[in-house]
Amino acid sequence: MSELAERYGAIVAAIAERASQASRDAAEIQLIVVSKNHGPELVRELHSLGQRDFGENRDQEAKPKAEQTQDLPDVNWHFVGQLQSNKVRSALSYSRIIHSIDRPSLLSSIQKELVLQNSLASGFIQLNLTDDPGRGGVQPKDLLEFAEKAVEVSNLEILGVMGVAALDRDPRIDFETIAAASQSLRGLIPSAKSISAGMSHDFKEAIDFGATHLRIGTVITGKRNL
Ligand SMILES: *Cc1c(COP(=O)(O)O)cnc(C)c1O
Repeated sequence: MSELAERYGAIVAAIAERASQASRDAAEIQLIVVSKNHGPELVRELHSLGQRDFGENRDQEAKPKAEQTQDLPDVNWHFVGQLQSNKVRSALSYSRIIHSIDRPSLLSSIQKELVLQNSLASGFIQLNLTDDPGRGGVQPKDLLEFAEKAVEVSNLEILGVMGVAALDRDPRIDFETIAAASQSLRGLIPSAKSISAGMSHDFKEAIDFGATHLRIGTVITGKRNL
């Protein structure tokens, strides 16, 4: 077995184990392997092991990779990084799930493009868990006001909230904030139950706090080589 296959198997098992410890159904937790900084061959090998959901954070890197793996059946590309409005058309050409919806101008660009394509997409509202506006994301206090705008976008299904826990403190603090935000979002959009949270170093805690979409890179993919 390759080292990649071993790491992948170990993380899939760790997710199932933590879900069971947290009395959660592992089937409701989706693993998205973040393939950034790795070439299409990594996507091919993981696909051969059964992985179908992949995440990318930069359009310049994601688009060629998606094109080079177009022959693989049933692949879902998740766009997880900050998305500039002028990249929306490109991103929506290969990705149907945007994890980083965080401002009205981005909503308008997505709406325009979906109407033009006459197609559907889904996405998460990203929360900013820091005081730094440059990090992207909606401040938790502004979530509902933004969500009211997001529900107006025809063809876009809001799945829930997304967040990146701060590195300099216990991730459980941020996962608790995300869980509370999820609860309040569901008051407005009852179907928006999903939570995109948890990365290599904190996915176990994220599972404890209800994450449904884990975005995991390095512990599976290994050292970045692009
Ligand atoms: C890179 C990235 C990840 C994965 O990070 P790892 O620490 O490598 O698991 C998850 N989410 C986003 C938004 C990312 O940019």
